[in-house]
Amino acid sequence: RADAALYAGKRNGRNQASWHATATHGLSEPLAAALDRGDLQVHYQPLVDLASGAVRGAEALLRWPDGEGGWVSPATFIPVAEANGLIHRLGAWALHRACADAQAWSSRGLSLEKLSVNVSPLQLQDAGFGRLVQKVLADTGFDPGRLVLEVTESAVGAEDATAYRTLSDLRARGVRIAIDDFGTGYSTLSRLRDVPVDVLKVDRSFVATLGDEGSHTSIVGAVIALAGALGLSTVAEGIERPAQAELLRALGCTEGQGFLYSPAVPADAFVATAGSRAFPAHEEEP
Ligand code: C2E
Ligand code: MG
Ligand code: MG
Ligand code: MG
Repeated sequence: RADAALYAGKRNGRNQASWHATATHGLSEPLAAALDRGDLQVHYQPLVDLASGAVRGAEALLRWPDGEGGWVSPATFIPVAEANGLIHRLGAWALHRACADAQAWSSRGLSLEKLSVNVSPLQLQDAGFGRLVQKVLADTGFDPGRLVLEVTESAVGAEDATAYRTLSDLRARGVRIAIDDFGTGYSTLSRLRDVPVDVLKVDRSFVATLGDEGSHTSIVGAVIALAGALGLSTVAEGIERPAQAELLRALGCTEGQGFLYSPAVPADAFVATAGSRAFPAHEEEP
C-alpha cells in the first residue's frame, strides 16, 4: 500500500525515487486497462488573454478517474507510462482526442486560436512521432497552425538529433512548439536561439511568489524580456491571484492560465465557458 510504503520510506530514510517506485508500483496494468477500456479523459484549461480576459485557447490535460469520485494525478501516472512504454500509445490517444474535440468545437462555432498538447520527451525520441502528428491532423482535419506542442527544456536540446529534426519539420508545417515549465530545467538562455521553439511557458513556481517579498519578479521579468528579444511569446502558468495577473501584464506577458480563471474542465464545460464569455481582466485591481 502506498501510504504504508511512504511511512516505511520515511522511517528508513530511503530516497524519494525509491518511495516513488514503491507508490506507483501496481499502476502499470490498471493504466493500460483504463486506456483500452476508454476510461481516460482529456480535460481543457483555458489559455486567457491577460489584457482582455478573452479565451485564446486551451491546454489539453489527461485525466484518469480513480473509480471513487477522484482522480489519479497525471504527475503520478505519466511517469508510470514513461517507465513501461505506454506513453507512446497514451500520448497518441490524448493528441487525437484533443484535436478531434477542438475540431468539433470549430464546427459548433468555437474557433480557438490554439490547442496546446503535452508531449513526453520519450515521444520525441521516437522517429515516427512527426508522422503520427501529421496523421492525427489529417484524420481529425485540425489545422496544424492551431496546434501547439508543449515539450520540456531537456527534450529540445540541439544535441538530440531526432527530436530536433522532428520539431523543425513540424514547425515547417505550421505547428508551434512551446517549452513547458520554463526555468526549471537546465537550458542556458543563449541556447534558446538555436532550438526550434515559439513559446516559453513560465513555470508555476515562479508565478506563485510574484509580488511577494523576495519573490521571483525580476527573474520572470527577465524571462519575458528575453523571450521578446528572441521573438518568442510567453504564457504564464498557475495564475491564482489577480495581483499576479496584473504584475505579469506589467512585465509584458500577454497570456496565462490558472485557477484564477479556471482549472482544467471536461470538454462540454470548456465549450460552455469559452463560448459564452471572457474572464474578467481584473483591471480594477490595485
Ligand atoms: P503541465 O503541462 O505543466 O500542466 C499544468 C499543470 O498545472 C496541470 O496539472 C494544471 O492542472 C496545473 N495548474 C494549472 N493552473 C494551476 C493553478 O493556478 N494552480 C495550481 N496549483 N495548479 C495549476 P495536471 O493536470 O495535474 O498535470 C500535471 C502534469 O502532467 C502536466 O504539467 C504535464 O506535465 C503532465 N501531463 C498532463 N497531461 C499530459 C499528457 O497528455 N501528456 C503528457 N506527456 N504529460 C501530461
Ligand atoms: Mg503543459
Ligand atoms: Mg506547464
Ligand atoms: Mg508546470
